[in-house]
Amino acid sequence: MRARIGAGSLELRRGDITREGVDAIVTAANSALAGGGGVDGAVHRAAGPELLAECRKIGGCPTGDAVATPPGRLPVRAVVHAVGPVYGACGGREDELLARAHRRALEVAGEAGCRSIAFPAISCGVYGFPVERAARIALETIRDHLLGGSPPHEVRYVLFGARELEVFRGALRELVERDPRVVLGG
Ligand code: ADP
Repeated sequence: MRARIGAGSLELRRGDITREGVDAIVTAANSALAGGGGVDGAVHRAAGPELLAECRKIGGCPTGDAVATPPGRLPVRAVVHAVGPVYGACGGREDELLARAHRRALEVAGEAGCRSIAFPAISCGVYGFPVERAARIALETIRDHLLGGSPPHEVRYVLFGARELEVFRGALRELVERDPRVVLGG
């Protein structure tokens, strides 16, 4: 499923983010940038040990922020390590922090010269964010970025499971209905 937003595009698809042919892939990192399970484990496995070495040079990243590193042996220009909130552990600021993690991921990818980017469902695994709510926040934040006209202009949201994909599709349909700037197809 695909939508045109401003001069950019947003695509939802099911898949494994380590296999996306884009300039930047985002991983759902922890604030120590220490590697972990879930999507971050998959990204570090695919990238090799150089990625952890790059993370160690940076040292850490606060919740709601993102940093870009060289990609190790992944065939992309950059890996963006975005730190989403642990649901229920951020004093009610979870929505804002999830939006900010997405916004910062887009900004640092743009600064690294990336024109296309692929996101996983940040915070929707071990961090326990309800997927319906996360989908609305993620898609609205990406819409705002695309309307702003800065790179990256091509955004993919890559869902690992069929249920997550269905939820994100529903959220995109709702966004299309209430925002005429978001147009299906293209
Ligand atoms: P968090 O700790 O931020 O919740 P997780 O890695 O536990 O991060 O989960 C985030 C999302 O990433 C989940 O929806 C999970 O199904 C998904 N995921 C796991 N592996 C991959 C992968 N290889 N590609 C894309 N998404 C993945």
